[in-house]
Amino acid sequence: MEFFDFHHHKKYIRNGIYNLSKGIPPDFPYSIGIHPNDIDVNTIEQQFSWMKNTMSENCFAIGECGLDSLVSVDQKIQEEVFLRQIKIANEVKKPLIIHCVRKFYEVISFKKKAEQPMIIHGFNKKRQIAEDLLSNNFYLSFGKAVLYNLSLQDIIKDTPLDRIFLETDNEDFNIEELYIKVSEIKAISLEQMNEQILENLHSIKNG
Ligand SMILES: [Zn+2]
Repeated sequence: MEFFDFHHHKKYIRNGIYNLSKGIPPDFPYSIGIHPNDIDVNTIEQQFSWMKNTMSENCFAIGECGLDSLVSVDQKIQEEVFLRQIKIANEVKKPLIIHCVRKFYEVISFKKKAEQPMIIHGFNKKRQIAEDLLSNNFYLSFGKAVLYNLSLQDIIKDTPLDRIFLETDNEDFNIEELYIKVSEIKAISLEQMNEQILENLHSIKNG
């Protein structure tokens, strides 16, 4: 069985969404965006024109983009760059893959500007934040931490199956382990788990 890797940084994985942050687009699905940590106020216009000129037919989503309270880029500038990417996603009708560090309530406040689905990648925070994101119609993509973090496993138990994605991000492990773990938590078969993720992909693709 092949398992879809919702967010990754490895050129050898073809069944998933590769995160493109510079250069030319690959011949497999990718997302394209400006990570808060990559914002450079001197070259931001070039960064945006690169984005717009690099959207081939394999572009699945906009991102990762978002807000990060730990990077040195000014918060106001981060918000402007995030909002511009939300508008691009609206224009090209593609979902947004969100990077968020300690700025969840700010990200939630941007949700009303987005006409496309928003997926928080690498979710690894508290139950209350998960609940607030879910009640605001976000999707959550989970990574390696699920394999050992019991409170995260508990959150998955209460996350609707139709709001879940699974990813390796920049961690080195076999995504099948994660599919097995989550299918056990949700008490469904591995096949059902796999099918569910494909259905979820289909529904974010159609807005
Ligand atoms: Zn990433």
